[in-house]
Amino acid sequence: MIELLGAAEIRDLAERLKLKPTKKLGQNFVIDGNTCRKIVKLANVEKSDIALEIGPGLGSLTLALLDQVDHLIAIEIDTRLANQLPLTIKGRGLAVERLTVINADAVKVKELPKNPTVLVANLPYNVSVPVLLNILENFPTITHGVVMVQSEVAQRLAAKAGNKEYGSPTVKANWWATLKIAAVVSRSVFWPTPNVDSSLVRFDRHLPAGSEAERIATFEVIDLAFAKRRKMLRSALAKLFKTDLQLALTKAGVDPTIRGEVLEVADFLKIGKQLINEKSTK
Ligand code: SAM
Repeated sequence: MIELLGAAEIRDLAERLKLKPTKKLGQNFVIDGNTCRKIVKLANVEKSDIALEIGPGLGSLTLALLDQVDHLIAIEIDTRLANQLPLTIKGRGLAVERLTVINADAVKVKELPKNPTVLVANLPYNVSVPVLLNILENFPTITHGVVMVQSEVAQRLAAKAGNKEYGSPTVKANWWATLKIAAVVSRSVFWPTPNVDSSLVRFDRHLPAGSEAERIATFEVIDLAFAKRRKMLRSALAKLFKTDLQLALTKAGVDPTIRGEVLEVADFLKIGKQLINEKSTK
């Protein structure tokens, strides 16, 4: 078993790199090895998996992952951390070839040198949803994973239609995957201590709800429906449909007087298909 990073080593590494963790980059590092092992366990990784980690930071979770998988791709936006990571791996006696570090913004990455099969990450909190959606959209070889996010975001991602937490991130993520909260994580395992609670979200990919053209149309509908979530669909979506919206919704089999927050991804898809129909008959 690889020895993981502890609190003293994390602080020491940060000091050597002259790194003052910033809120902007969501830099709260896990200082507890047991938490890292638990995250990896919940992700059910196999040796043959190619793991993708977003925001490896100082390498806490990276080392726990490399204890279980042969290869890991890590995307880190902070150049100092990206440069340090292979050195930390080497310092633990691991072959640096087992790690591919990409120094980039994970919201924008569309291609990787290898096809990852599992995502395991302690996500930077202010961009956790766009990062997760970008990864689900662009890396279909990822079949499952576990991400740590702010508890409030976890509740949103795992919410059921009709709940107050249910929103655009829920429906969009559900286009590709089924998500559930796997565990709550104490603030005390981080340095610096964050002022929000964290939770682990497990996701399992299913077939996408529709084609790529249907996804684009459906996501337009979702954005508008939740931008005005207190309004009935027939007024929330008025901007999108040039023709009779009431008729389009009725044709889609969706009640025009209900609100978007009670609809599931399959219902949004029906409206998305109507939008495509309308555009093609113009
Ligand atoms: N995985 C480490 C851990 O558990 O200790 C660090 C997690 S910390 C919550 C988030 C990490 O994401 C930081 O290392 C930060 O520099 C990095 N980060 C922030 N924004 C990013 C982005 N847009 N793309 C890639 N990495 C990002």
